[in-house]
Amino acid sequence: MSQLDNQCIFCKIINKEIPASIIFEDEKIIVFKDAFPKAPIHWLFVPKKHIPTHMDISQENKELMGHLHVIVQKVAKENNINHYKLIMNCGYESGQRVFHIHLHLLSGKTQEEV
Ligand code: 5GP
Ligand code: ZN
Repeated sequence: MSQLDNQCIFCKIINKEIPASIIFEDEKIIVFKDAFPKAPIHWLFVPKKHIPTHMDISQENKELMGHLHVIVQKVAKENNINHYKLIMNCGYESGQRVFHIHLHLLSGKTQEEV
């Protein structure tokens, strides 16, 4: 599987080909604001490696997936977010529309309504 997919909107954000409100970035993860927020805070935590769905995660991605969660916790703490909901849709029928895995972080007073 290639690192980036030139048809993928999140790969284009990772490549800085299209803009996004970037919150955090390291060599493996990018975090940016969802363009259509469903909560007062709605950020997307995206591995830079192009993995289409949760079902495509393999043994070789184990460390990356752990790192993703450590970064969620770090970015939340740095932004004084101490309660949040994490969602990863898998498959079109679940609501997935961007086929590059990402965790939605939702927070703020309306999160129970999400
Ligand atoms: P999914 O439905 O695949 O779980 O989530 C995709 C998310 O990406 C949606 O919440 C949608 O609002 C967001 N999104 C789609 N296109 C863009 C974009 O070009 N920029 C940003 N920042 N978010 C996007
Ligand atoms: Zn991608």
